[in-house]
Amino acid sequence: MQIRCSLCNMLFDDSDELIQERKRRHEQWHRLDMTSYKRNAIIGDVVWIPNDAPRDTGIQNKIKK
Ligand SMILES: [Zn+2]
Repeated sequence: MQIRCSLCNMLFDDSDELIQERKRRHEQWHRLDMTSYKRNAIIGDVVWIPNDAPRDTGIQNKIKK
């Protein structure tokens, strides 16, 4: 199943053996803990949303509206 970042809607595959590391690094990316330089990132707390409808990504729905 895929999970989706609540801040940027990026999708991750939670069957990935490195998913825990990927999620942690992605959460840190949104907090800018790891870097001192400015980036075009949304800052906030990530909520991982299960994306159990493969063709319903949310992003596409918003575009269609
Ligand atoms: Zn994100």
